[in-house]
Amino acid sequence: MNKTKRTEILIAGAGIVGSLMAIALGENGFEVVLVDPSFETSGQTKRICRSYAISRTSKRLLKKLDVWGNLNERFEPIKKIILSESNNKTMDLTKLAEFDLQDESEEPTSYMVEDFEIRSALNLKLLACKNVEILTHCKVLSEEIEKGGSIINLDNDKKIFASLFVICDGPKSSIARAIKKKFISKDYNQVAIVANVSHINTHKGEAHQIFFSSGPIASLPLNGNRSAIVWSEEKAKGFQVSKSKKENFLRELQAKLNNVLIDITLDSEKYVFPLSLSILRDFVDERRVFIGDSAHTIHPLAGQGLNLGLRDIASLTEILVNGKKIGEDIGSIGLLKRYEQWRSFDRFLLSSYTDGINTLFSNDNKILRKVRRLGLKAINSSTNLKTAFMNEAAGEYGHLPDLLKET
Ligand SMILES: Cc1cc2nc3c(=O)[nH]c(=O)nc-3n(C[C@H](O)[C@H](O)[C@H](O)COP(=O)(O)OP(=O)(O)OC[C@H]3O[C@@H](n4cnc5c(N)ncnc54)[C@H](O)[C@@H]3O)c2cc1C
Repeated sequence: MNKTKRTEILIAGAGIVGSLMAIALGENGFEVVLVDPSFETSGQTKRICRSYAISRTSKRLLKKLDVWGNLNERFEPIKKIILSESNNKTMDLTKLAEFDLQDESEEPTSYMVEDFEIRSALNLKLLACKNVEILTHCKVLSEEIEKGGSIINLDNDKKIFASLFVICDGPKSSIARAIKKKFISKDYNQVAIVANVSHINTHKGEAHQIFFSSGPIASLPLNGNRSAIVWSEEKAKGFQVSKSKKENFLRELQAKLNNVLIDITLDSEKYVFPLSLSILRDFVDERRVFIGDSAHTIHPLAGQGLNLGLRDIASLTEILVNGKKIGEDIGSIGLLKRYEQWRSFDRFLLSSYTDGINTLFSNDNKILRKVRRLGLKAINSSTNLKTAFMNEAAGEYGHLPDLLKET
C-alpha cells in the first residue's frame, strides 16, 4: 500500500489562479503541493488567443510575486474605455459614456495581457519556487476530512494528507460537484466568441464595449495594431458565427464594429465559451476553500473574472500568513470564515453588477433602453461617478490586502 504523503497545503488546479496561489504561499514559507493533469512542466506554454484585462491592483500582486517583470513589457495599457450602443437595424453607434485618465501621469486602470505571455511569465517563477511541488498527469478525485487535516485522493491511487485543501479547478468545479456543493447558477443562453485581429488604424489604447440586443462586443487593445475581440452572442447564432467562413466572420464583425477598427484581418482561430453565472453558495468549509472560477464564474463583459480570483489569492495569503504567525490551525473553520467574510462583498458586487448590466443591455425593450441611456448619461456627466467606475475597473475599492496595495 502507498504511504500517504504529507504537506501543509494542497492546491487542485494550476490555471492562472492556482499557479499564482502556489507562488504566493510558497514565497511566504508554506509547503505546497500543486496538482493539475494538464500542467506543462517543461515550461512550454500552449499559445491560445485568449487575453485578459489585468487591473491596476492585480498588476501590483503580479509585481510583488515577481511575475510582472517576466512579461518584459509584453502588455498594453488601457487608456480609455468607451461604451456605445448599436442601432440593430442601421448598425450606427451611439456613444453612451467615455472613461479616460485625468492626466498622462496617472496609472491606467488596467492592462491587456495575452494568455500565453502571462502563463509563460508565471511558469518561470513557479518552476523556480522551492516550496512548491508540482504533480502533473494526475488529478484530484476526492477528499476525506480527518483529524487535523484532509486526505486527498488522486486518480493515480496516491493519497496526500494536507492541513488545508485549496480548490481552483475552474468553472463548474468537478470537485465541488463531487462533494455535492450547492451553486447559484444562471445560464445566459449566450456564448462569447474570442479572436485576435489586426487592423490598419491604431487603437490608441482604447477599449470599446458596444452593446447589441443579443449581447455586447468588446474590442480590447493588444500591442501593435492588434486587438482582442470578445463577441457575446445568443447561443445558436454564436455557434453559427464561430463556425462561419473567415470572410463571412470578418464581414459581420466589421459591420458590428462600425469604424472602431478599420480593415480587420483575422490573426487567430476563433474560440467559443458558453456563458453562465455560477456562484458557490459556501466557498469555505473546515479544511477546504474554493477560489477563482471554481468559486465564482461571472459574465466576461467587465473583464473582471480573473481579477476577482487574483483578489481571492491576495486575501487568502494574508489571512493564512497572519494566522500561522500566531499559531492558528490554517485549516480551521474559524480562520477560513474570516476569509469568507472578507471576500463575500466583492463576489456579490461583481456577480450582481455583471449580471445586471448584461440583463439591462442584452434586450430590445424600449423602456430599458431609456433607463440604461439615462443611467450612463448620469455617470458620464458626473466626475464622482466616473471616478467610482474607474476605481472599480482598477480593483481599487474595499479593504485591500497588502499584496494589492501600492507599496
Ligand atoms: C471570453 C472570456 C473573456 C474573459 N476576459 C477576462 C478579462 O479580460 N479579465 C479578467 O479578469 N477575466 C476574464 N475572464 C475570466 C477568466 O478567464 C477566468 O476568471 C480565469 O481564467 C479563471 O482561472 P482559474 O485558474 O480559476 O480557472 P481555469 O483557468 O479554468 O483553471 C482550472 C485548472 O484546474 C485544472 N483542474 C480541473 N479539474 C481538476 C482536478 N480535479 N484536479 C486538479 N486540477 C484540475 C484544469 O486542468 C485547469 O488547469 C474571461 C472569461 C471569458 C470566458
